[in-house]
Amino acid sequence: MSNHPTTGKVILAGAGPGDPELLTLKALRYLQSADVVLADRLVSETVLKEYVKPGAEIIPVGKQCRRGASTPQSSINELLVEYALQGKLVVRLKGGDVSIFSNILDELLTLKEHAIPYEIIPGVTAALGAAAYAGIPLTARGHATAVRFLTYYKSDVVTESYWKELAATDDTLVFYMSSETLDGVVANLTKNNIADNKLLAVVEQATTPLQHVHTTNIHEYATNLKGREFISPSLVIIGKVVALHEQFNWLINSGSREQYFKPVAKLFTTVTETTQKANEHVSRA
Ligand code: SAH
Repeated sequence: MSNHPTTGKVILAGAGPGDPELLTLKALRYLQSADVVLADRLVSETVLKEYVKPGAEIIPVGKQCRRGASTPQSSINELLVEYALQGKLVVRLKGGDVSIFSNILDELLTLKEHAIPYEIIPGVTAALGAAAYAGIPLTARGHATAVRFLTYYKSDVVTESYWKELAATDDTLVFYMSSETLDGVVANLTKNNIADNKLLAVVEQATTPLQHVHTTNIHEYATNLKGREFISPSLVIIGKVVALHEQFNWLINSGSREQYFKPVAKLFTTVTETTQKANEHVSRA
């Protein structure tokens, strides 16, 4: 007999980058039977409104550190444990894929610590969504033999010697959480003599109806893109493959400044029963 005969289960699932149809069938199946869904900010509202079982509790637990309105990780961990120990089926729904630039490790450690059963369901990560919807094959033959997923959300995550390597490699570089620090990314690569045939793309709100792609030669960044405020979320792709966008792009740029994903601050001020629950946990933390 287990210590918790009524223990439920936690499903850690990726929701994909935006387009609700990029959700996997497996994630959909669990959403249709879950009692509780703890959802990140970068999860499409359509997924929550149309795919989750009617009557299930949906709790937004978004993080947006730069806006200072985030659900602390400890509160998310507490909610996972609390609901699972009540015997509930909990889906922890994350944007994109669960393992790419997410706090899944904290959640796994918490689940292990409390002996809560779990499953992990992958999702389409933003890099792959953006690549597909912008017509930029990330490892196109003759252009790149590898791709690297990186971030430069603060300056100490990339060392001087690694910038040198990133400027020299022919691998495609994809930067997550780095559109606000893009000036620094470009400065570090140009300082290390990145080649002239490397292009840069910023894909705003990839895979959503509001997707907008900006491209420039990296050495002309200062003239073309510097100082521009990109809409969150945005992804940066750098490499020879970006040139293929012009030929293979199949979507018209949105041009709208509207946001597909609501800012966390908004989620927290729309007080519904469920957001209140998340707020209670925030204030307890
Ligand atoms: N786990 C997520 C990434 C979370 S980090 C995944 O696998 O995609 C958040 C960053 O992902 C954002 O700052 C942005 O760089 C990127 N991102 C997520 N969704 C995006 C989208 N629809 N369009 C562009 N970038 C996106």
